[in-house]
Amino acid sequence: MQIGIIGAGQLGQMLGFAARDLGVQCRFLDPSTSPPAAECGHVTQRPFDDAEALAEMAACCDVITYEFENVPVTALRGIEDEVAVYPPPEALRLAQDRLDEKQLFDRLEIPLPGYHVVDSRQDLADAAATLGTPMVLKTRRLGYDGKGQYVVRSAADLDVAWDTLGTQALIAEQWVPFDFEVSAIGARAADGDIRIYPLTRNVHEQGILRTSRSPVDDGRLREKAGEYMRRMLAHLDYVGVLALEMFVKDGRLLANEFAPRVHNSGHWTIEGARTSQFENHLRAVLGMPLGDADVTGHAGMVNLIGTIPEAVKALDVGVLHDYGKAPRPGRKLGHVTVVAESAPQRDELVDIITKTVT
Ligand code: AMP
Repeated sequence: MQIGIIGAGQLGQMLGFAARDLGVQCRFLDPSTSPPAAECGHVTQRPFDDAEALAEMAACCDVITYEFENVPVTALRGIEDEVAVYPPPEALRLAQDRLDEKQLFDRLEIPLPGYHVVDSRQDLADAAATLGTPMVLKTRRLGYDGKGQYVVRSAADLDVAWDTLGTQALIAEQWVPFDFEVSAIGARAADGDIRIYPLTRNVHEQGILRTSRSPVDDGRLREKAGEYMRRMLAHLDYVGVLALEMFVKDGRLLANEFAPRVHNSGHWTIEGARTSQFENHLRAVLGMPLGDADVTGHAGMVNLIGTIPEAVKALDVGVLHDYGKAPRPGRKLGHVTVVAESAPQRDELVDIITKTVT
């Protein structure tokens, strides 16, 4: 069996390792030179929407999937008649535009922060009047890791926010003074079977994920998040792994965004769950039975961003994943996972790693 993966970054690399364990071959499409997944299979070094490269991949693979969210949807639709493409390109289309994404949450009655479409300077003023300040102005498309965002702290910031982002289609969001952030990660097979990982609590800094811990010790939140996840998976007739990021405020979940792919906040599943998110994604898209998504203990994950300090390599704590990428400020270079018997023990280990990183 051969799977074609669009994108050959660290997510592709971890999918590649899981594929190797399942005895499945991988091919990748990625324009960058020596991407992390190169060690897991052939990489065609062409743009994500290169019709010839995509046709070649469609012809030799049993299924096509993607690990990168900014793949042009038209490129996927162009090969859909030749080969199965999972997750469904429609899910990707909705995730690529924050307005479509929010309207989907609305349709599915998944609570979310107030929002206002901003196409003009007047819309921006109206958004501030309706939502109040602070509010977050975000580009509707192509934002990631907090990029393409401007926090409007008061009406005095409106001009500079507009000057910074105003050339693009925008959306303004109510500022959520959240208690913490969580992500739900679920897998759905084509036959409708669903497995949901225990809820994960996340900490972001400057828009980038720093740490994840699972499971979240709140049965009611877990149940609600699971319900929203099931609603999304069923509505999208989804196949593969999906991540839903949410804010928690006063015990209530508010949807922020979803990703139709394996997700950084699920990296802990490699060591901390009976079946990793990567294996379950492959199982789903390849039509294999899904594996158990239960945790094996209390898991934690610390991202290594910008640099992997020698002191982290020397630590005798957890499992280090080095993606083999060149260091650059703000770049995700690797992560460390820990699994402990109790939440306090897990937190202690996460603290040791976090202190070594910073
Ligand atoms: P995003 O790219 O939308 O996931 O935003 C990155 C991070 O910025 C989130 O994980 C939050 O930590 C923060 N953030 C984004 N939107 C909001 C909001 N409306 N209120 C408060 N914090 C936010």
